[in-house]
Amino acid sequence: MIKSTKYFSRCIGELPEGCRLCVKGYKTVLFITGICPRSCFYCPISEQKKNKDVIYANELPLTGEQDIESLIEEAESHDSKGAGITGGDPLSRVNRTIIFIRKLKERFGRAYHIHLYAPLENCTEERLKQLFDAGLDEIRFHPDIFENSLWDRIKLARKFSWKTGIEIPVIPEKEKETIKLIEYLKDSIDFLNLNELEYSDTNSSNMSEKGYKTKDDLSYAIKGSYLSGMRILKHIEKRIYKTRLNAHLCTAKLKDAVQLRNRMLLKAKNTRLPTDIISNDGILLRGCIYTKELSPRIRKIKEITKSAENMSQPLSEFKPFFKKNIFLDKKKRRLLVNAKKLIRELESGSLPEGYDYAIVEEYPTYDGFEVSVNFLN
Ligand code: SF4
Repeated sequence: MIKSTKYFSRCIGELPEGCRLCVKGYKTVLFITGICPRSCFYCPISEQKKNKDVIYANELPLTGEQDIESLIEEAESHDSKGAGITGGDPLSRVNRTIIFIRKLKERFGRAYHIHLYAPLENCTEERLKQLFDAGLDEIRFHPDIFENSLWDRIKLARKFSWKTGIEIPVIPEKEKETIKLIEYLKDSIDFLNLNELEYSDTNSSNMSEKGYKTKDDLSYAIKGSYLSGMRILKHIEKRIYKTRLNAHLCTAKLKDAVQLRNRMLLKAKNTRLPTDIISNDGILLRGCIYTKELSPRIRKIKEITKSAENMSQPLSEFKPFFKKNIFLDKKKRRLLVNAKKLIRELESGSLPEGYDYAIVEEYPTYDGFEVSVNFLN
C-alpha cells in the first residue's frame, strides 16, 4: 500500500534507516569529493564543488583526511546520529572515504549509522569490501537509467550484510526506463529511493534545454517529476510489492521543510549565542552593529572577513549599553546583540552615530547564509 509519511513524502513498506535519521536532521552530510566520472544533465552540485576535489561536513569545508576534529565538531553541533557520505563519487576517493568512516565509528560508536551514495563507474567488489570492512551500514547506488551496461555491479553488494538500495531522481515521463531498471534489480536491493527532480543554479540550462520547468515560482521541484514518481510507486504496488521492496518517493518539500529545518533547529539550539532569537525554522534572528567601513551596505561578506580592521574599539564603545550581552563576530567583523534590545536602544536615541544597525536573519550554519538584512538606520 502507498502511504503518505508525515514528512510530505510517499512510501511503500518502510523508510530505510538512513532516511529515518535524515528527516530528523540527525545526519551529517559528508561531501567527500566533487570528482565524478559521470556528467548527469541533472547534477545539482554547486560550481564551488563540482569536479573539484573538496571536502565538506554540512556547510563546513574540511582541509583533508587529517581534519577529523572539525568533522566531529560539526557533527556534534547538531546532535548527529549518523552520516550520509556523498559527492561526486565517493568511490573515486575510496581511501579517504574509508578513513572517515573508521574515524566516525571510532568516535561515535558502532551504532552511528553511515550510508553512502555512489554511481557505478568505480564500483568493484574490492572497493565494496573495503567499505564494508570499515563499517559502512548502507549503500545507495545511483545507476544511469538510460544505460544498462553497469547495472549488474549492484548485485556485487549482495555479498555483504549491509542494506543495499538504489537512489535516483525521477525524470518526468521516463517511467518506462526507470521501471525497467527496478524490475531488473528488484531482488538485489532492499530499498528504492526516488527523488523528486530539482532545479539548481548549475543544472538550470540543461533543464531548460530539455524543456523541464519548475512547478511554480516558489519551488525548485521540476514539474511532472512527482507525478511520474507516483506512477512508478503504483507500478511497484501492483506488480512487485510481493517482493517486499521498500520504496520511498522523497519530495523537494521534505528536504527543505523537514530535513534542513530539523538540522537547523538542532544546530541553532546547540550553537546559539545567549542574544540570539531562534525562529520556528531554526533561523537565527540577530541584532548587528557594523562600522561604516565594514557594513554589508558597501561590502560583500567575503571582503569583510578579509578585512583586518580592529573591532575592539567599537566593542568597548557599546559595552555600556549591552553589558555582557554583546559579542564580537570575528568572521563577519560585526557586533552581535539581542535584536529586540537593539531596537529599543535605537528608539530611545541612546546609541552613537557613525555605525550601521541591522536585524539579520541567518542560518546557524558555518557559511551563515543570510536570509535577510534589514537596516534600522
Ligand atoms: S553521479 Fe551524481 S555527482 Fe556524478 S554527475 Fe551524476 S548527479 Fe552529479
